[in-house]
Amino acid sequence: MRLILLGPPGAGKGTQADVLAAHYGVPHVSTGDLFRYNLRQGTPLGLEAKGYMDRGILVPDDVTGRMVADRIDRDDAAPGFILDGYPRNLVQGEALEEMLRARQLHLDRAVAVDVPEDVLLARITGRRLCPSCGATYHTLYHAPRREGVCDRCGAELLQRPDDRAETVAVRLGVYRDETAPLLAFYRERDLLTTVSGLGSVEEVAARIREVLHD
Ligand code: AMP
Repeated sequence: MRLILLGPPGAGKGTQADVLAAHYGVPHVSTGDLFRYNLRQGTPLGLEAKGYMDRGILVPDDVTGRMVADRIDRDDAAPGFILDGYPRNLVQGEALEEMLRARQLHLDRAVAVDVPEDVLLARITGRRLCPSCGATYHTLYHAPRREGVCDRCGAELLQRPDDRAETVAVRLGVYRDETAPLLAFYRERDLLTTVSGLGSVEEVAARIREVLHD
């Protein structure tokens, strides 16, 4: 199963990608998570990405593309992957096509998760991240057992710096201008399915399963 999830920040792509990855036994490949992991480890890639991420704009395509190619070449991605956060613009859409063609692989589907902007804002404001292990929470929808503390590793939870209101506005603009054109790109290739991202995690997951006929 090779699937991409499209949708604005806060649409729930990461949460749904986790559900799908567990269901199909393939890795959840999130470019945002990969950048944040590199940042926590202090790698050159993480340091390069930081300036762009803090401003809410896209990391250059060549850097991102190399990172994705390395990730999908790992053994665990041989049976497939759920891509979340990539591609993010038309250049990346074409780069992914080329990456898959070179490996004689193809994409099964692009699922766009659709959520109105006012709901996105409410969701993003409540997001919390564990700076130590990368676990994600939400103050309302997925609260940790102890407020502000990671269930998994006990570290103090933080808000992602790019989840602050000013940066969120930039990221939503980037989505509209650069990422949304990918909807037409995948529609033309007969790969696009749009589902509503409103409702509970389970409700959205059920909708996605239905469109994947599974
Ligand atoms: P996300 O966690 O998907 O919201 O991504 C957080 C930030 O990582 C984005 O605002 C970008 O700065 C960077 N990023 C993630 N995915 C990509 C991508 N495909 N291309 C460029 N930058 C990305």
